[in-house]
Amino acid sequence: MTATQASPAVGFDTRKLLIGGQWRAGDSAQLLPLHNPSDGSLLAQIARGNAADVDAAVAAAQAALAGDWGRWTAAERGRVLLKMSQIATAQADELARLEALDVGKPLKQGRADALALARYLEFYGGAADKVMGDTIPFANGYTAFSIREPHGVTGHIVPWNYPMQIIGRSVGAALAMGNACVLKPAEEACLSALAFGHIAQQAGLPAGALNIVTGLGEEAGAALSAHPGVAHLSFTGSVAVGQLIQAAAARNTLPVTLELGGKSPQIVFADADLDAALPFLVNAGIQNCGQTCSAASRILVERPVFDAVRRRMAERYAALCIGPALDDPEVGPLISARQRETVLGFLKIAHDTGLTVAAQARLPAGLPPGGCYVAPTLLAPVAPDHPLAQQEIFGPVQVMIPFDGEAEALRIANGTAYGLVAGVWTRDGSRALRMARQLHCGQVFINNYGAGGGIELPFGGVKHSGHGREKGFEALYGFSSLKTVAIHHG
Ligand code: NAD
Repeated sequence: MTATQASPAVGFDTRKLLIGGQWRAGDSAQLLPLHNPSDGSLLAQIARGNAADVDAAVAAAQAALAGDWGRWTAAERGRVLLKMSQIATAQADELARLEALDVGKPLKQGRADALALARYLEFYGGAADKVMGDTIPFANGYTAFSIREPHGVTGHIVPWNYPMQIIGRSVGAALAMGNACVLKPAEEACLSALAFGHIAQQAGLPAGALNIVTGLGEEAGAALSAHPGVAHLSFTGSVAVGQLIQAAAARNTLPVTLELGGKSPQIVFADADLDAALPFLVNAGIQNCGQTCSAASRILVERPVFDAVRRRMAERYAALCIGPALDDPEVGPLISARQRETVLGFLKIAHDTGLTVAAQARLPAGLPPGGCYVAPTLLAPVAPDHPLAQQEIFGPVQVMIPFDGEAEALRIANGTAYGLVAGVWTRDGSRALRMARQLHCGQVFINNYGAGGGIELPFGGVKHSGHGREKGFEALYGFSSLKTVAIHHG
């Protein structure tokens, strides 16, 4: 592929930025490669956006707020989001294909992401004209009320693992509240983000309400997070970069939502319905090849059923089917050779420290040699303070930790730097509630894990998993600022 060719695998020119309603080349004219993780081939090229492009995108967003977009009623904003939702639904198969090529995500999982994007747009489209302030009982002679207003220009920096879902929940909510967005997708995978720009245009979103600047994190991302014209930042990604974003936001005194990593536990008590739990225990570890912020990377099992759960999880691991994403296996490749090195590094630590491999899936013969495959691995038993039980691996590696009783389960579950999600499996309703109240994290699932994506359910973390909430109605509050008006009329 030369710099002047569009990618044959993608139906649009991937080398353009969306700024002020126009698809245009980046300021530097430099391009970055996108690789297909299933075979390592060059997939497409994207523009290497820089600070000048971010300047232009922020200016276009400001112009949109001062122009048509800023004048649209809440109901009109809702309608355009619903139209975007319909288009995303109609294009779900194509979006899934792009995600398979770009992220290495198996087709069914990519299609689920596309439908989740559509559902976010539907949810926030429906909610746009239902966000209200309050009238406030105040002193005699006054009438006081509050109004929810958009922040202005919102910056959205998203990772490569679930681009469609994360764009849906953050850009969808921000647009519903009347903000104008500048989106910076990840340099490893951004085809679905660019496709989202086309969907917005097809639906009739006014120019400048959504701007997309592809490029490197330390270049375009850093420029966006430090830009004085941005009024709110929403970041989803690693803890290390999240801390940089928060520091940059602090210099401009900006509100920031940080959705960071996790080391989430599923806690299985001896009285649990193991048949119900089993699929969730494994799937939540291997979905998207383990590259999920809320992956259940720690499986805590009460000692009387530890061996039974280990045996049954091992059987499931042995049956896992792994392959190129377009073949729609259960497990595809990791995103990149670099991510594969990271995961293999953790497996080397496991080996060097004498951890027992309870199960390892088999990589089939004939996988493309350039693909970033790694065999899903279950380690058991693992001590709660072992590095593999403490650090986010971001690959298909789960550790099993035995415990005795509720108090120890809680101590282990809460005993990492993270606090994103937890699952509890028990038939004892009182225990389930006690656990839910004492787990230190943003979401707790009782006798399920993830609630099928839970678009309506506020999501976010505590500790190093971040702060602020996206998803659900709560996100609309995050993407707006509250103004109080007090009128003295005597
Ligand atoms: P990352 O932090 O390296 O990159 C995320 C985004 O930040 C990318 O768009 C990247 O270009 C940008 N970026 C990188 N350096 C930057 C800088 N200096 N300034 C501004 N932007 C910069 O994360 P990753 O490795 O791509 O993603 C994996 C991490 O994301 C994991 O830790 C995972 O748990 C987390 N994650 C969290 C959630 C959640 O909702 N909590 C969801 C998905 C992923």
